[in-house]
Amino acid sequence: MKRATTYIHAGAEPDPSTGAIMTPIFQTSTYVQEAPGKNKGYEYARSQNPTRKALEDAFAILENGKFGLAFSSGVAATDAVIKLLAPGDEVICANDMYGGTYRLFTKVFERFGIVFKYVDTTNASNIESAVTNKTKLVWIETPTNPLMNITDIAAVAAITKSKNILLAVDNTFASPALQNPLDLGADIIMHSATKYLGGHSDVIQGALMMNDAELRERLYFIQKSCGAVPGPMDCFLVLRGIKTLGVRMKAHCENGKLIANWLQNNPKVAKVYWPGFEDHPGHAVAKKQMTDFGGMISFELKNDSVEEANRVLSSTHLFSLAESLGGVESLINHPASMTHASIPREERIKNGLNDSLIRLSVGIEDAEDLIDDLNKAIG
Ligand SMILES: *Cc1c(COP(=O)(O)O)cnc(C)c1O
Repeated sequence: MKRATTYIHAGAEPDPSTGAIMTPIFQTSTYVQEAPGKNKGYEYARSQNPTRKALEDAFAILENGKFGLAFSSGVAATDAVIKLLAPGDEVICANDMYGGTYRLFTKVFERFGIVFKYVDTTNASNIESAVTNKTKLVWIETPTNPLMNITDIAAVAAITKSKNILLAVDNTFASPALQNPLDLGADIIMHSATKYLGGHSDVIQGALMMNDAELRERLYFIQKSCGAVPGPMDCFLVLRGIKTLGVRMKAHCENGKLIANWLQNNPKVAKVYWPGFEDHPGHAVAKKQMTDFGGMISFELKNDSVEEANRVLSSTHLFSLAESLGGVESLINHPASMTHASIPREERIKNGLNDSLIRLSVGIEDAEDLIDDLNKAIG
């Protein structure tokens, strides 16, 4: 089946009792059993729910995986992956990643004795050098948030496979429409379904996809034991969002390309971070592992001050000043004070995240209107 067809039909079976073409919202906490222990495969809704099941099947199909699991948020999905580990285990992760992931690792899991090592994963050999006999997991994000750094997933997978270490990839920025890490050798994919999968800024949700049945059992056990499951209404919204993932991503990528090029030629802009540029350090790898370059763009102004960044951030009208990304509407964000405020300033600057950096989540409005809005704001 071609991708465009998959988005519409993934996980979708007509409801057996009515023929409803959309999976119903099974708003129930429990299921009546025919006799003790005799049921239709559904016992209690923390463990199983038919709306969630349809979505989890769709998640698996989207990433060319065998299994999918849905969580109440992206960080809940990440949390479940780290709960595979035990005190003393080591995780190697990217030094440039989503602020909430960094906060979860440093402020929650370090207290439980899990050790996180932060390296520049754009060079896979840095991962290899950081591996010890305690390393159990490598956690990468590509493209990264917000600097659009690219990590070679296949190169990292070659290292983790040879050393029997799990590789998890946060694939939120690319979405399954642009990049499929399981195909490149990853063991687990994490998505904040809040972003491109949902696509309409109306739901918080997370996803995990994998191929290994035993790994799926361990993660399912954590999902039902820890209980960070999404409600059926949220599952329905993401099922609906997925249907237009293909056309939305095409529009995000087209607009992203036009805006990245426009910013690049703007005399007031100092630097544009977008993996589609041929001189982007990760361009060749991005071209190899992604089908397109996405609608996420960051840029710095020539007037490199927080004041000037703040002026631009509060002058746009179509680009709304907000955290999050991946919705149909365009958003503008100041990572240093918003999404990445939980990373200490020193650490941020060291990793190249300057105070004046502005991040755009380019929506699917008309590109001319978006450019006009930015033009007026940048002035
Ligand atoms: C938003 C986001 C997350 C966290 O997901 P939530 O759904 O907000 O919990 C993780 N990684 C990336 C790259 C994100 O953008």
